[in-house]
Amino acid sequence: MTGPAERVETEFAETFGGKPEGRWWAPGRVNLIGEHTDYNDGFVLPLALEQGVAAAARPVDRPVLRVRSVQQEGTVELALAEIAPDTVSGWSAYVAGVAWALREAGHDVPGLEVVVDGDIPAGAGLSSSAALECAVAVAWNDLAGLDLSRDDLAAAAQRAENDVVGAPTGGMDQMASLHGRSGHAVFLDMRSLRAEQVPFDPPAAGLTLLVIDTRAPHAHVDGEYAERRRSCTQAAEILGVPALRDVSLDGLDDALARLGDGAEGDLLRMRVRHVVTENARVLDVVGALRSGDDPRVIGPALTASHASMRDDFEITVPEVDTAVAAALEAGAHGARMTGGGFGGCVLALVEADAVEAVLRAVEAAYEKAGFRAPSTFVATASDGARKL
Ligand code: ADP
Ligand code: MG
Repeated sequence: MTGPAERVETEFAETFGGKPEGRWWAPGRVNLIGEHTDYNDGFVLPLALEQGVAAAARPVDRPVLRVRSVQQEGTVELALAEIAPDTVSGWSAYVAGVAWALREAGHDVPGLEVVVDGDIPAGAGLSSSAALECAVAVAWNDLAGLDLSRDDLAAAAQRAENDVVGAPTGGMDQMASLHGRSGHAVFLDMRSLRAEQVPFDPPAAGLTLLVIDTRAPHAHVDGEYAERRRSCTQAAEILGVPALRDVSLDGLDDALARLGDGAEGDLLRMRVRHVVTENARVLDVVGALRSGDDPRVIGPALTASHASMRDDFEITVPEVDTAVAAALEAGAHGARMTGGGFGGCVLALVEADAVEAVLRAVEAAYEKAGFRAPSTFVATASDGARKL
């Protein structure tokens, strides 16, 4: 089977002629647990996927960026000096943005000819954008001999997305793409931005981590996201803490009692309960994985995370609830929606020999409910961005 990593060299020759100086790769990611905790300075536990973006690149003498994507029309050419937040748009802004961010950080980056090619399912929330940024960032880092740390590369990729593309996303995706490791998940403290790789290898334990892309149409996502963030900020202000991360599980009841009366207080209580219990679940899961426990033990935490997103944070939709319920019914150890919500993917941790049964169960439940058939794949915890 040929994938992006193989195709990209041929595409490079067809686009620019000759051979690239090298090929680089950066993975997409899926979040195992820790949802809507990132902007509360909390904890997340993504893993880098097998799917990602390949970049074939060659430095050029002139200070220009020439970039082509196998997934898009045409080749884009930009003068490096002219790349700025208000001068680029569209998909090439993710690539140009990396050059801008590296230059802003004081690094000299050479002109570049680059072809990118990815295999991350579109619109599933598996972070093709970070994979694209990180593939190009590691390429430039090597070609310019910058010798930047993974954290610095993640920061540059995030700046590209925040400042040049204009998407107000946190740093989880880029950190996961750069710090991923085969057989491990990446535990991130979103306050300190420290990354720790914790062992997570379902296949070695006879398990499969299934990703069920519900393909549910996303609606009102931006507005709902902003509303959840506002509620969290408001609750933290009432509680007098910098962020909800500072409310411990032990202090939760106390905190909930101080959130005021009426419907507004009730709403804030639900939101805070999700964030505080979700952070605690991430730490529980990390604790179990760190001590080498059987990965099956994390199943209940995954399922509890889903219930919390459904009942307290109210970010699920019938498609994801149906997939989770059907997977659990068919014997999954745990299942939850992953990603920001209102659609997207469901993760299910299942015995390898129960995968077929779980898939049949989800398909049957979808057919009964009249939902469009989901697409599914296996998540394999993979290495982070690298030269191929
Ligand atoms: P996600 O990161 O969850 O996949 P985003 O909306 O953040 O979704 O990023 C998707 C965007 O990233 C695409 O619309 C496109 O502009 C860009 N992108 C991702 N992969 C590629 C690719 N292989 N080639 C060109 N652009 C890409
Ligand atoms: Mg993205």
